[in-house]
Amino acid sequence: MSGALAAATGAWATTMLALVGVFGLLIGSFLNVVAYRVPAGMSIVTPRSACPECGSQIRARDNVPVLSWLLLRGRCRDCAGTISARYPLVEAVTGVFFVLAALRFAPVVLRQDGGAATVGAILQLVAFLYLAGITVALALIDLDTHTLPNAIVLPSYLVGAVLLAAAAVLRGDVAALISAGAGMVGLFLVYLLIALISPRGMGFGDVKLSGVLGLYLGYLGLGPLLVGAFAAFLLGGLFGIVMLLVRRDRTTHGIAFGPWMLAGAWVGVFAGQLLWESYLALVVRG
Ligand SMILES: [Zn+2]
Repeated sequence: MSGALAAATGAWATTMLALVGVFGLLIGSFLNVVAYRVPAGMSIVTPRSACPECGSQIRARDNVPVLSWLLLRGRCRDCAGTISARYPLVEAVTGVFFVLAALRFAPVVLRQDGGAATVGAILQLVAFLYLAGITVALALIDLDTHTLPNAIVLPSYLVGAVLLAAAAVLRGDVAALISAGAGMVGLFLVYLLIALISPRGMGFGDVKLSGVLGLYLGYLGLGPLLVGAFAAFLLGGLFGIVMLLVRRDRTTHGIAFGPWMLAGAWVGVFAGQLLWESYLALVVRG
């Protein structure tokens, strides 16, 4: 590749990442609304966001992710009531999350030479941005309310399956389609079995989420699936042990497991293949 072409590709990639980051900030702003309203059974479309203190509607210019909160120093323009730092934090985290997902999946888009494979790679990126979005929303809601709402989890089967199936077919990767289905059924059955054996340790909300995560991880292959599934129990277990030591009581079922399932899945997405191959190399050599 010539120097000029490399520079142009670099500038294009940087611009694309910046746009994905800004898109993530906006989605993060929306996820704040989702995390607040979905558990309350409220519409996520209307009414417009209002100050929790005085009830006055948030003006469009005061609704710019992160920036508005910083400019208003975390206070409402009308009543000067405190606006939680959680809102800009969720926006910033979602923005960074989207950039990381793009770093993982956008290079695949750039490697295709146009046509169906490029569309497939773009759909794959969109599928994982969607997963990043529901990850933030579900983690917040599970931490807040210890539930994983059907209103988010169940449609995610459809969204994930349609996007990933189209991506697999357009990229000519039928194996990914089959392993996605196997991952979905396999992980769902593992969680169902755990929930039946230990109903107090595992909620049915976790079981329903497991199928969505199995679909995504299975799409990426056996390594990401096994690493992602195992990492959830490793991270959740370590956290549980720390909580036992810190709290000095014996109650562990107050801990939401959903966030650990989601965190584990992303370990599988980003490092699953590498960790799995390293593990196999160790086992074969040993
Ligand atoms: Zn106010």
